[in-house]
Amino acid sequence: MVNYIFKEDSRRNVPIGKLICLARTYKKHADEMHTDVTDDPLLFLKPASSVIFNGESIIIPSMSQCLHHEVELGIVIGKKCKNVSQQEALDYVLGYLIALDITARDIQTEAKKNGWPWSIAKGFDTFAPIGEIVLKENLPDPNNVDIFLKVNEEIRQKSNTSHMAYSIERIIEFISHIMTLEPGDLIMTGTPEGIGEITKGDILEAGLSNICLLKVDVKS
Ligand code: MG
Repeated sequence: MVNYIFKEDSRRNVPIGKLICLARTYKKHADEMHTDVTDDPLLFLKPASSVIFNGESIIIPSMSQCLHHEVELGIVIGKKCKNVSQQEALDYVLGYLIALDITARDIQTEAKKNGWPWSIAKGFDTFAPIGEIVLKENLPDPNNVDIFLKVNEEIRQKSNTSHMAYSIERIIEFISHIMTLEPGDLIMTGTPEGIGEITKGDILEAGLSNICLLKVDVKS
């Protein structure tokens, strides 16, 4: 099944492409993971098949006993780009969305210990819930936007993209010098502090600038 950025609008269907994710972009999150931010962004990939939308459910895979939430700003690419500069980077953005980088933390911890990739820990179906896209015209300063996550109506993560170690422009420049970015690609910019466990029956609500744009629950 192909997932589309504009789920409800067939005229503007842009298939979701690759999900390029950053790790350790917020200093306080790096601290809670007992590590540090790096000079250049650290990247990993999630499959497009992990995407779900507002109103759908995160499914706990039988291989994991410990899922964690990570709320992140997502950048949706609107135009093909390669080797772009920071000055032109935002020209290639279609918009932004709130995203959750759901992580099987027990599997990731084992992978880190052994020097294995994170593809299993990050790549299960339903591990990338995304909210509705906010077109870039409606979010003029992506480097200063509040993001939040509530679990069962309680705030778990709350921060602002101004606390990221890299600007949105630098992130796009950096990635575009590694891989061609194409329309429908989604960059997940990393999570702030406050990550924690989610379990069956939990309700997750996330958004930008205090507006809830994504509500999903957790099922086994
Ligand atoms: Mg993450």
